[in-house]
Amino acid sequence: MFTSEFVKERSDHFEKLPAQELLRWVYSNFSSVGFTSSFSADDVSIIHMIKQIKPDALIIFIDTDFHFPETYSLVERLKKEWNLNLKVIKPEISVEKQNQLYGEALYERDPDLCCRIRKVEPLQRVLKEIDVWITGMRRDQSPTRANIGKVEAHKLPDGKTILKVNPIADWTRADVWRYVNQNNLPYNPLYDRNYLSIGCQPCTRPVLNGEDERAGRWSGKGKLECGLHTFTEKE
Ligand code: SF4
Repeated sequence: MFTSEFVKERSDHFEKLPAQELLRWVYSNFSSVGFTSSFSADDVSIIHMIKQIKPDALIIFIDTDFHFPETYSLVERLKKEWNLNLKVIKPEISVEKQNQLYGEALYERDPDLCCRIRKVEPLQRVLKEIDVWITGMRRDQSPTRANIGKVEAHKLPDGKTILKVNPIADWTRADVWRYVNQNNLPYNPLYDRNYLSIGCQPCTRPVLNGEDERAGRWSGKGKLECGLHTFTEKE
């Protein structure tokens, strides 16, 4: 569906352009588009940009049942105040069922399995329904993200190819906070308590001085990614 020449040309073209230009191109050329948002400061910035281009754009939130109360509160607030077209996707099994099947606190013993059940499988279901997947990934977040392109083609496990778009791939953390402050955007109050990357409550801790932005995620478990960005095959 998307040739490698097309993807490279588009990615190169948007490399030096503002994120809004890439988002404008996406919404002008594709009808089946979804933005997966964790409601991080990065993602709230992107939602803010998208709202000015396509007010009814599909925003997708993966509710693992393990988010912080502060995160749920921000999601509800923005859904209401920004009138978001929000699709909340859930795992197929409840936490109680997961506990019955795999035991309590699976995230402690096998976080990869827990992430697969509560994040990756729900995302795989929703990606089957869209052609363009917008994310809030940035190159400076971790070594695993250092080489992401602005526009990429990814093959899903079922063989379908989708366009993955990373409009703020070239932003730094400082760029995100500049945008948040300039636009007076609401943000998760956990940031003020040194949570620099906010995921599920059992797997996230505040970051210490000098640590990487994502050092508070799955701390001590040797895990850098939840799997949302590793199950597809980049073409
Ligand atoms: S981040 Fe932790 S709690 Fe959330 S799905 Fe992954 S392992 Fe489970």
